[in-house]
Amino acid sequence: MSDKDFVLAVEGLTVSFDGFKAVNDFSFYVEENEIRVIIGPNGAGKTTVLDLICGKTKSTEGSIKFCGKELTKMSEHGIVHAGVGRKFQNPSVYEDLTVFENLELSYPKGRNVFGALGFKRSQEVLDAIQETAEMVFLVEMLDQSAALLSHGQKQWLEIGMLLIQNPSLLMLDEPVAGMSVAERKKTAELLRKITKDRSVIVIEHDMNFVADIANRVTVMHQGKLLSEGSMNHVQNDPKVVEVYLGH
Ligand code: ADP
Ligand code: MG
Repeated sequence: MSDKDFVLAVEGLTVSFDGFKAVNDFSFYVEENEIRVIIGPNGAGKTTVLDLICGKTKSTEGSIKFCGKELTKMSEHGIVHAGVGRKFQNPSVYEDLTVFENLELSYPKGRNVFGALGFKRSQEVLDAIQETAEMVFLVEMLDQSAALLSHGQKQWLEIGMLLIQNPSLLMLDEPVAGMSVAERKKTAELLRKITKDRSVIVIEHDMNFVADIANRVTVMHQGKLLSEGSMNHVQNDPKVVEVYLGH
Protein backbone atom coordinates (compact mmCIF):
# COMPACT_ATOMS: atom_id res chain seq x y z
CA MET A 1 0.00 0.00 0.00
CA SER A 2 1.37 3.44 -0.82
CA ASP A 3 0.97 6.50 1.44
CA LYS A 4 -1.79 7.73 -0.84
CA ASP A 5 -4.15 4.97 0.28
CA PHE A 6 -4.09 6.35 3.81
CA VAL A 7 -5.66 9.55 5.01
CA LEU A 8 -2.93 9.73 7.61
CA ALA A 9 0.47 8.03 7.62
CA VAL A 10 2.61 8.67 10.70
CA GLU A 11 6.10 7.22 10.50
CA GLY A 12 8.95 7.17 12.98
CA LEU A 13 7.43 10.09 14.86
CA THR A 14 9.57 11.25 17.77
CA VAL A 15 9.50 14.26 20.04
CA SER A 16 12.03 14.91 22.71
CA PHE A 17 11.37 17.31 25.61
CA ASP A 18 14.75 18.01 27.20
CA GLY A 19 15.95 14.54 26.26
CA PHE A 20 12.73 12.78 27.36
CA LYS A 21 11.07 11.10 24.39
CA ALA A 22 7.34 11.56 25.02
CA VAL A 23 6.71 10.02 21.58
CA ASN A 24 9.39 7.62 20.44
CA ASP A 25 9.62 6.20 16.91
CA PHE A 26 5.84 5.89 16.68
CA SER A 27 4.15 4.85 13.43
CA PHE A 28 0.49 4.37 12.61
CA TYR A 29 -1.79 4.59 9.58
CA VAL A 30 -5.41 5.68 9.36
CA GLU A 31 -7.71 4.84 6.47
CA GLU A 32 -10.62 6.75 4.98
CA ASN A 33 -13.89 6.49 6.94
CA GLU A 34 -12.11 4.80 9.80
CA ILE A 35 -12.65 5.42 13.51
CA ARG A 36 -9.33 4.75 15.17
CA VAL A 37 -9.11 4.74 18.93
CA ILE A 38 -5.82 5.32 20.73
CA ILE A 39 -5.62 3.90 24.24
CA GLY A 40 -2.87 3.52 26.78
CA PRO A 41 -1.90 4.42 30.34
CA ASN A 42 -1.60 8.05 31.47
CA GLY A 43 1.59 9.58 30.17
CA ALA A 44 1.82 7.12 27.25
CA GLY A 45 2.09 10.00 24.76
CA LYS A 46 -1.43 9.92 23.30
CA THR A 47 -2.22 13.62 23.63
CA THR A 48 1.28 14.49 22.42
CA VAL A 49 0.64 12.52 19.21
CA LEU A 50 -2.43 14.70 18.54
CA ASP A 51 -0.39 17.82 19.40
CA LEU A 52 2.18 16.74 16.80
CA ILE A 53 -0.41 16.01 14.11
CA CYS A 54 -2.16 19.37 14.56
CA GLY A 55 1.17 21.23 14.67
CA LYS A 56 0.84 22.49 18.26
CA THR A 57 4.09 20.66 19.03
CA LYS A 58 6.93 20.28 16.53
CA SER A 59 8.41 16.83 16.05
CA THR A 60 12.08 16.05 16.58
CA GLU A 61 12.05 13.29 13.96
CA GLY A 62 9.69 11.43 11.68
CA SER A 63 6.97 12.24 9.23
CA ILE A 64 3.22 12.87 9.29
CA LYS A 65 1.60 12.59 5.88
CA PHE A 66 -2.01 13.71 5.58
CA CYS A 67 -3.57 13.05 2.17
CA GLY A 68 -0.02 13.04 0.84
CA LYS A 69 0.93 16.41 2.45
CA GLU A 70 3.79 16.53 4.94
CA LEU A 71 2.33 18.16 8.07
CA THR A 72 5.54 18.40 10.10
CA LYS A 73 6.60 21.36 7.97
CA MET A 74 3.27 23.19 8.14
CA SER A 75 1.89 25.80 10.55
CA GLU A 76 -1.02 25.01 12.88
CA HIS A 77 -3.25 27.23 10.78
CA GLY A 78 -2.11 25.57 7.56
CA ILE A 79 -2.90 22.15 9.03
CA VAL A 80 -6.46 23.25 9.96
CA HIS A 81 -6.85 24.65 6.46
CA ALA A 82 -5.65 21.35 4.96
CA GLY A 83 -8.59 19.64 6.71
CA VAL A 84 -7.49 18.48 10.16
CA GLY A 85 -9.80 19.36 13.07
CA ARG A 86 -8.76 18.78 16.65
CA LYS A 87 -10.78 18.89 19.83
CA PHE A 88 -8.94 19.32 23.10
CA GLN A 89 -9.88 17.53 26.30
CA ASN A 90 -11.88 20.33 27.90
CA PRO A 91 -14.70 21.89 25.92
CA SER A 92 -13.82 25.38 24.75
CA VAL A 93 -16.99 27.04 23.55
CA TYR A 94 -17.85 30.72 23.80
CA GLU A 95 -20.04 30.73 26.92
CA ASP A 96 -21.44 34.21 26.38
CA LEU A 97 -22.70 33.37 22.89
CA THR A 98 -25.64 31.23 21.84
CA VAL A 99 -25.27 27.79 20.29
CA PHE A 100 -26.18 29.34 16.94
CA GLU A 101 -23.53 32.04 17.29
CA ASN A 102 -20.87 29.51 18.31
CA LEU A 103 -21.56 27.52 15.16
CA GLU A 104 -21.78 30.61 12.98
CA LEU A 105 -18.43 31.86 14.25
CA SER A 106 -16.84 28.51 13.38
CA TYR A 107 -18.13 28.48 9.82
CA PRO A 108 -15.07 28.89 7.58
CA LYS A 109 -14.60 32.43 6.42
CA GLY A 110 -13.86 33.23 2.81
CA ARG A 111 -16.58 31.00 1.43
CA ASN A 112 -19.12 33.78 1.61
CA VAL A 113 -19.64 37.39 2.63
CA PHE A 114 -21.69 38.11 5.76
CA GLY A 115 -21.40 38.90 9.39
CA ALA A 116 -20.19 41.85 11.32
CA LEU A 117 -21.17 44.43 8.72
CA GLY A 118 -24.82 43.48 8.77
CA PHE A 119 -25.02 41.64 5.50
CA LYS A 120 -27.82 39.11 5.27
CA ARG A 121 -26.53 35.74 6.31
CA SER A 122 -26.44 33.53 3.32
CA GLN A 123 -28.75 30.55 3.16
CA GLU A 124 -25.66 28.37 2.85
CA VAL A 125 -24.49 29.32 6.34
CA LEU A 126 -27.96 28.93 7.85
CA ASP A 127 -28.28 25.50 6.29
CA ALA A 128 -24.85 24.45 7.55
CA ILE A 129 -25.73 25.59 11.08
CA GLN A 130 -29.07 23.79 11.01
CA GLU A 131 -27.57 20.58 9.66
CA THR A 132 -24.70 20.63 12.14
CA ALA A 133 -26.99 21.38 15.11
CA GLU A 134 -29.18 18.41 14.13
CA MET A 135 -26.11 16.21 13.87
CA VAL A 136 -24.88 17.11 17.38
CA PHE A 137 -28.31 16.93 19.07
CA LEU A 138 -28.57 20.67 19.70
CA VAL A 139 -31.19 21.79 17.23
CA GLU A 140 -33.62 22.64 20.06
CA MET A 141 -30.91 24.66 21.80
CA LEU A 142 -29.82 26.99 18.97
CA ASP A 143 -30.98 30.15 20.78
CA GLN A 144 -29.69 29.08 24.18
CA SER A 145 -26.62 30.61 25.69
CA ALA A 146 -23.78 28.08 25.55
CA ALA A 147 -23.22 28.72 29.26
CA LEU A 148 -26.53 26.96 29.99
CA LEU A 149 -25.58 23.72 28.24
CA SER A 150 -24.65 20.62 30.20
CA HIS A 151 -21.03 19.48 30.10
CA GLY A 152 -21.95 16.81 27.53
CA GLN A 153 -23.82 19.31 25.36
CA LYS A 154 -20.80 21.62 25.42
CA GLN A 155 -18.68 18.71 24.18
CA TRP A 156 -21.19 18.14 21.35
CA LEU A 157 -21.23 21.83 20.51
CA GLU A 158 -17.47 21.85 20.21
CA ILE A 159 -17.61 18.79 17.95
CA GLY A 160 -20.22 20.69 15.90
CA MET A 161 -17.90 23.72 15.70
CA LEU A 162 -15.29 21.44 14.15
CA LEU A 163 -17.75 19.57 11.90
CA ILE A 164 -19.06 22.78 10.36
CA GLN A 165 -15.53 23.25 8.97
CA ASN A 166 -15.89 19.88 7.26
CA PRO A 167 -12.49 18.40 8.18
CA SER A 168 -11.30 15.20 6.45
CA LEU A 169 -9.72 14.11 9.71
CA LEU A 170 -11.23 14.87 13.11
CA MET A 171 -9.24 14.20 16.29
CA LEU A 172 -10.97 14.03 19.67
CA ASP A 173 -9.18 13.81 23.03
CA GLU A 174 -11.32 11.95 25.58
CA PRO A 175 -14.64 13.29 24.24
CA VAL A 176 -16.93 11.33 26.60
CA ALA A 177 -15.12 12.09 29.87
CA GLY A 178 -17.74 13.44 32.29
CA MET A 179 -20.66 12.33 30.12
CA SER A 180 -23.60 10.26 31.33
CA VAL A 181 -24.16 6.77 29.93
CA ALA A 182 -26.98 8.08 27.71
CA GLU A 183 -24.74 10.88 26.41
CA ARG A 184 -21.96 8.37 25.68
CA LYS A 185 -24.37 6.27 23.61
CA LYS A 186 -25.41 9.31 21.62
CA THR A 187 -21.78 10.34 21.12
CA ALA A 188 -20.98 6.88 19.74
CA GLU A 189 -23.92 7.27 17.35
CA LEU A 190 -22.63 10.73 16.36
CA LEU A 191 -19.11 9.45 15.65
CA ARG A 192 -20.45 6.61 13.51
CA LYS A 193 -22.51 9.11 11.50
CA ILE A 194 -19.66 11.56 10.89
CA THR A 195 -17.21 8.94 9.65
CA LYS A 196 -19.34 8.46 6.55
CA ASP A 197 -17.51 11.54 5.24
CA ARG A 198 -14.21 11.51 7.12
CA SER A 199 -11.78 9.69 9.38
CA VAL A 200 -11.79 10.12 13.14
CA ILE A 201 -9.08 9.55 15.73
CA VAL A 202 -10.30 9.28 19.31
CA ILE A 203 -8.29 9.01 22.51
CA GLU A 204 -10.43 7.27 25.09
CA HIS A 205 -10.28 5.34 28.37
CA ASP A 206 -13.86 4.08 28.56
CA MET A 207 -13.48 0.58 27.15
CA ASN A 208 -17.23 0.11 26.62
CA PHE A 209 -17.22 3.23 24.49
CA VAL A 210 -14.08 2.06 22.66
CA ALA A 211 -15.70 -1.31 21.92
CA ASP A 212 -18.77 0.56 20.65
CA ILE A 213 -16.97 2.74 18.12
CA ALA A 214 -13.52 1.47 17.16
CA ASN A 215 -12.69 -0.05 13.81
CA ARG A 216 -9.18 -0.58 15.06
CA VAL A 217 -7.41 0.20 18.32
CA THR A 218 -3.85 1.47 18.69
CA VAL A 219 -2.26 0.97 22.10
CA MET A 220 0.56 3.28 23.18
CA HIS A 221 2.98 2.80 26.05
CA GLN A 222 5.97 4.98 26.92
CA GLY A 223 5.75 6.86 23.63
CA LYS A 224 5.76 3.70 21.54
CA LEU A 225 3.31 1.46 19.76
CA LEU A 226 2.52 -1.45 22.08
CA SER A 227 -0.20 -3.23 20.12
CA GLU A 228 -2.68 -2.64 17.35
CA GLY A 229 -5.67 -4.37 15.83
CA SER A 230 -9.30 -5.11 16.51
CA MET A 231 -10.70 -4.51 19.98
CA ASN A 232 -10.73 -8.27 20.47
CA HIS A 233 -7.08 -8.54 19.42
CA VAL A 234 -5.75 -5.83 21.74
CA GLN A 235 -7.93 -6.94 24.66
CA ASN A 236 -6.37 -10.37 24.47
CA ASP A 237 -2.80 -9.19 23.93
CA PRO A 238 -0.88 -10.08 27.12
CA LYS A 239 1.32 -6.96 26.74
CA VAL A 240 -1.79 -4.74 26.78
CA VAL A 241 -3.31 -6.57 29.74
CA GLU A 242 -0.04 -6.15 31.63
CA VAL A 243 0.46 -2.42 31.19
CA TYR A 244 -3.09 -1.14 30.81
CA LEU A 245 -6.20 -3.27 30.91
CA GLY A 246 -5.11 -5.33 33.93
CA HIS A 247 -5.13 -2.24 36.16
P1 ADP B 1 -1.22 10.85 27.58
O1 ADP B 1 -2.10 11.75 26.80
O2 ADP B 1 -1.02 9.50 26.96
O3 ADP B 1 -1.68 10.70 29.01
P2 ADP B 1 0.78 12.89 27.17
O4 ADP B 1 0.97 12.86 25.70
O5 ADP B 1 -0.04 14.00 27.71
O6 ADP B 1 0.24 11.48 27.66
O7 ADP B 1 2.19 12.96 27.88
C1 ADP B 1 3.25 12.05 27.59
C2 ADP B 1 4.46 12.42 28.43
O8 ADP B 1 5.07 13.58 27.88
C3 ADP B 1 4.13 12.74 29.86
O9 ADP B 1 5.18 12.22 30.67
C4 ADP B 1 4.12 14.25 29.88
O10 ADP B 1 4.47 14.73 31.15
C5 ADP B 1 5.18 14.60 28.84
N1 ADP B 1 4.94 15.89 28.16
C6 ADP B 1 3.88 16.19 27.37
N2 ADP B 1 3.98 17.43 26.86
C7 ADP B 1 5.15 17.93 27.35
C8 ADP B 1 5.85 19.19 27.20
N3 ADP B 1 5.35 20.16 26.43
N4 ADP B 1 7.02 19.33 27.84
C9 ADP B 1 7.53 18.34 28.61
N5 ADP B 1 6.94 17.15 28.79
C10 ADP B 1 5.77 16.94 28.19
MG1 MG C 1 -3.88 12.78 27.32
